[in-house]
Amino acid sequence: MSFIHSIKFRFTIWYLLVLAILLVALSAGVYFYLSGSLYRGLDDSLEIRSTQIRSIQDILESIRQGEFQEELGEIVILYFYSGNQLMDVSPRGITIPVSHELISQAIAGSSLFATVQTAEGEGLRLLAVPVNIAVAGPPPGIQPATLVIARSTRQIDQALGGLLRTLTIAVPLALAFAAGGGLFLARRALKPVDEISRTAQEIGETDLSRRINVNTKDELGRLAATLNEMIGRLEKAFQRQRQFTSDASHELRTPLAVIEAESTLALQKERPSGDYRQSLEGISQEAKRMSSLIEQLLTLARVDAGKEQWNFAEVNLGKLITNLSTDAEVLCQEKGLSFQSGQMQDLVVRGDEARLRELFMDLLDNAIRYTSSPGTISVSLQREAQIAVIAITDTGVGIPAEDIPFIFERFYRVDKSRSRPEGGTGLGLAICKHIAEAHGGKIEVESQVGAGSTFSVWLPLQSL
Ligand code: ADP
Repeated sequence: MSFIHSIKFRFTIWYLLVLAILLVALSAGVYFYLSGSLYRGLDDSLEIRSTQIRSIQDILESIRQGEFQEELGEIVILYFYSGNQLMDVSPRGITIPVSHELISQAIAGSSLFATVQTAEGEGLRLLAVPVNIAVAGPPPGIQPATLVIARSTRQIDQALGGLLRTLTIAVPLALAFAAGGGLFLARRALKPVDEISRTAQEIGETDLSRRINVNTKDELGRLAATLNEMIGRLEKAFQRQRQFTSDASHELRTPLAVIEAESTLALQKERPSGDYRQSLEGISQEAKRMSSLIEQLLTLARVDAGKEQWNFAEVNLGKLITNLSTDAEVLCQEKGLSFQSGQMQDLVVRGDEARLRELFMDLLDNAIRYTSSPGTISVSLQREAQIAVIAITDTGVGIPAEDIPFIFERFYRVDKSRSRPEGGTGLGLAICKHIAEAHGGKIEVESQVGAGSTFSVWLPLQSL
């Protein structure tokens, strides 16, 4: 990424632009305020001086005679008409470039300020005020005239020029320092971003154990923490995925190996037909196991892809469980177990009947599978406020307390050597949990080793 496209650069440019506008506005403000107040001071002094001159008797006559003594730095000129000609009297014979118009206006009675430039290029601020002068005649009398008092603006111009020079050096200098400082601060503040992107680039699919090392408490620290949490979740998901793939391959390899061994053995030599039957029965059993495993794997793949199809409708749990109990009772009889089911109420939930049937059948299957004769399997359906609670209890082997937190995980088996020959895949409970949760419910287990287990399913009742 080029420097010009970096946030640092854009941040500094914007910051400098705002600062430059502020500094220029501030400098202009100071300049104009100072210039205004200096000129106002000069104008005030001219006004005071004009009042002073006008109030002293005979002073105008002494100006007219060319005998007036000017103060240092001022020029006093008297303008009047003699005949049709505009005359000016300056004690020092100085003429200043004053327009006739201004003089005429002042003679006509208005006081006026003006700024003019002398031939030498010096600035003069002048005040033209109307005065009356006595003329000897003919005819003798009082005649309107203009008194012009001028003072040099050199000091003001020097002060303002100095200020302008200072500002033209100071403002760019301040901007240059601000640019350096801004760039330094931006670089410091955005340093964690470089760290974040570098680590993110280094993290590969196989290296999700890496974390971004930014521990500040600001926004970037929070961003890094959020990204670290996300990487953590991805890492877990990848681990689960890897585990799932390896477990699935392992699960499929075992029945395939059995099928291969059975068929190789059977084909080694001529055998009596009973032996073939036995081999084929073994092969068929393994094929069935594989087919149910693949069915469950497909279900979980659909769950993970979020592509499950649900057919939600009203389901009468009482009827559904009574129905399932009939099948379960047959299976119990085959295994020499007794079966009990309590009074079934007509409790209605909104759900997918086929999936709920799968859920309860899996739990009943497990109960029968992990209970040996003599033993009892019982089913009950109860209502707790707005919840239907279905409990499936067995008097089987039970589940050790340390395994209970994991039995709903995919491929988790308490005793692998025992579960596999019984036909278990280790996926049943993971699917049961998913079905219960998809219905807004949950599934829990209470168990004691040697005494049996109770799996309870909570499902919210349909609100009327
Ligand atoms: P499996 O197909 O192996 O039965 P499940 O996911 O249904 O897989 O069950 C996971 C594990 O939980 C089983 O391997 C078994 O160890 C344990 N389990 C499940 N139900 C029962 C039960 N009713 N009694 C004792 N153990 C059980």
